[in-house]
Amino acid sequence: LEALHFADAPHILSSTLPGPKTSEALALSARTESMARGGGRMPIAMDRAFGATFKDPDGNTYIDLSAGVGVSSVGRCHPKVVAAIREQSEVLMHALEINSTRRTELAAKLSDVAPPGLRGDCVTFFTQSGSDALEAAIKFAKRITGRHQIIAFHGGYHGVWNASGALTTGNAYRKGYGAQMGGVIHAPYPYAYRFPFDTTHKSAEQIAGEYVDYLLNTPYTAADDVAAVIVEPVQGEGGYVPPSPEFLQLLRKACDRSGALLIVDEVQAGAGRTGKMWAVEHSSVKPDMLTFGKGIGSDLPMAGLMMRSDLAAQIPDGSMPNTFAANSLSAAVALTNIAILQDPELDLLNRAQVLGLEAQERIRGFNSPLVGEVRGRGLMIGIELVEDPATKEPLSRDKIGQLMGYLMNHGVLMIPCGRYSNVMRVMPSLTISRALFFKALDIFGDALA
Ligand code: PLP
Repeated sequence: LEALHFADAPHILSSTLPGPKTSEALALSARTESMARGGGRMPIAMDRAFGATFKDPDGNTYIDLSAGVGVSSVGRCHPKVVAAIREQSEVLMHALEINSTRRTELAAKLSDVAPPGLRGDCVTFFTQSGSDALEAAIKFAKRITGRHQIIAFHGGYHGVWNASGALTTGNAYRKGYGAQMGGVIHAPYPYAYRFPFDTTHKSAEQIAGEYVDYLLNTPYTAADDVAAVIVEPVQGEGGYVPPSPEFLQLLRKACDRSGALLIVDEVQAGAGRTGKMWAVEHSSVKPDMLTFGKGIGSDLPMAGLMMRSDLAAQIPDGSMPNTFAANSLSAAVALTNIAILQDPELDLLNRAQVLGLEAQERIRGFNSPLVGEVRGRGLMIGIELVEDPATKEPLSRDKIGQLMGYLMNHGVLMIPCGRYSNVMRVMPSLTISRALFFKALDIFGDALA
């Protein structure tokens, strides 16, 4: 990493973090409300960025523990990415009427790095956003199986459109917009910290897995009409929840018994984030389809769907024309991004696992009564903040807003997720230097205090 001369920013470690502004009190109260809504209107703007840091228009520098919600997986404006954009933009940016070299290379590369079950034998459909990829997955699963229902999970986030939005629960994206795609059944996700069923004798994973098996394989439930089970191998927007591998294994078995397809949505957890190229690889499960997005494209729009080639063969040609999908610029960047993720000298994936565990320990070490749980896999870490660990009542939106205000005034960007917007996510670029990362975490520790 040091050889990359990229992620380290010694000047930031010493002096340039913004101190509390004179208008702090005023600004904080104005900011609190909008920030506590979990995004939307932020009080600062990003003007320029480099690696794991960015500057606002006033020239204040911030340490970035968000990485564009994982999009900038190897760091913002990575020099190799910038060079790839420059080179590719001089020769070819868009091709639709026939295939392009970069697009073909990227499809081959994705097949090489796909998880077992898809590796070496999958077909990729490119899209521009994760939501589009999920729309495609749903459409194709119905076409292939001739069935019409989909099982998804409480707290899941799969996108914003008619079908992908119908799978998504527990947030404002759905409310008040009327009917979306029908035929979606929501099952409990094994979110052990807030699981609504008794886990004295069975784990949350067992209960959730058996629930899906019941739906899929018991006459008079949904059996025979479920096209697919769509699951995030680590739940993202729902609160950064990593289930044990047993959960995906139970889903795989239940799908095999019923003929439903198992689709893993790796839009947020994939592309190295959890310390493996795909989060499903923490289990031995072979998915039938995999959706990707965010971190595969490093700063540029790139998403899509990998599918077992025998399934893809059942889809009529021309089922998914998509004008801007896998334009050559995005494809060139994705190829560069994957090469960086796979660089043996940088060893970013193993590093993510080691650094992630260290970070979790450090956060627990703050011994803050506001921390209900620290959990995660690799550099996808969630810190569940509560009013009181005994009651598990989510920390109020007001206090989350104050916390974020403190962080921003001290030069750290961290954003919340979760059903109650009370889970602070730690999702830095995989190339962040250890020193910078821990400096930001320590500022978070101060904010809690
Ligand atoms: N699927 C998952 C797991 C996601 O986290 C997201 C976005 O956060 C999406 C799908 C939708 O992706 P996009 O915002 O690119 O449409």
